[in-house]
Amino acid sequence: RNIASIIDGKAFAAGLRARLAALVPDFVRATGRAPGLAVVLVGDDPASQVYVRSKHKATVEAGMLSFEHRLSADTTQQALLDLVATLNADDAVDGILVQLPLPAHIDDKAVLASIDPAKDVDGFHVVNAGKLAVGEEALVPCTPLGSLMLLQDALGDLSGLHAVVIGRSNIVGKPMAQLLLQQSCTVTIAHSRTRDLPAIVRLADIVVAAVGRPEMVRGDWIKPGATVIDVGINRVPGAEPGKTRLVGDCAYDECAAVAGAITPVPGGVGPMTIACLLRNTLVAASRRAGVNAPE
Ligand code: NDP
Repeated sequence: RNIASIIDGKAFAAGLRARLAALVPDFVRATGRAPGLAVVLVGDDPASQVYVRSKHKATVEAGMLSFEHRLSADTTQQALLDLVATLNADDAVDGILVQLPLPAHIDDKAVLASIDPAKDVDGFHVVNAGKLAVGEEALVPCTPLGSLMLLQDALGDLSGLHAVVIGRSNIVGKPMAQLLLQQSCTVTIAHSRTRDLPAIVRLADIVVAAVGRPEMVRGDWIKPGATVIDVGINRVPGAEPGKTRLVGDCAYDECAAVAGAITPVPGGVGPMTIACLLRNTLVAASRRAGVNAPE
């Protein structure tokens, strides 16, 4: 029986980070300073703390400056907006990332809108979403950008392929669909109201699952030879009592038996997100400084 090739996102991300780290000294020579990323964390959500710590570590390892701002859970929206305004005005800061989710009393749309689009390394500002949609130079959300890189590495030219994106969030599904459309895929966007999802997924040469439902996509949904990008990160009970494990949105063993290539969870899309954050920071820094930006 067929066993899909495993798309090693961890290895690809390590390569990308090494390539970016090698470009940083050129930026420093050209500008007299290192690229800087400011990460703002409000509150003490445990998952967010883990993300912020790994972003900090990766930023420093790439030779960039990391500015961490930790605010208490009861921080007012105005205090957060004031901090963003300070970071917008700070020339040493090239990228600003406000870690989501924010506490319920803060309007995350207002906060995202306050970030200078030129420093919006998460690519969530409406200006960047709009630029992506009309095909102008944008800062592109990291998870879909990383997913696209893995697809291009696995398949080369994506032109004419039918891609089914499951999920329509502003963070993953919608920008993923825009990127695939830009690559001349035929794009179908599925979501919770989609009728007969298995039949639609069976048409796909490329499946991108960004749903947040553990192992929802089954092996018999996959067209033989299709490429499966599993964005989902879901924590489920493990084999031993009290232990948990991570699974994707795709039933891995079943899908791997039918697909041509598939990303594992963990070790697939996840590592690409941070690598692309570093890439976006160097791109933002280069554009701001008027020097050549990496691809
Ligand atoms: P959201 O919850 O914002 O979006 C989920 C999407 O899935 C929605 O569009 C929803 O549809 C759709 N959906 C829900 N149930 C179904 C269903 N039964 N059938 C079809 N579609 C369904 O999640 P995100 O986009 O933020 O994240 C998606 C997954 O990716 C999560 O597991 C998350 O943890 C993971 N993730 C991983 C990252 C990484 O670094 N690898 C980064 C970001 C996210 P509707 O719009 O109709 O409600």
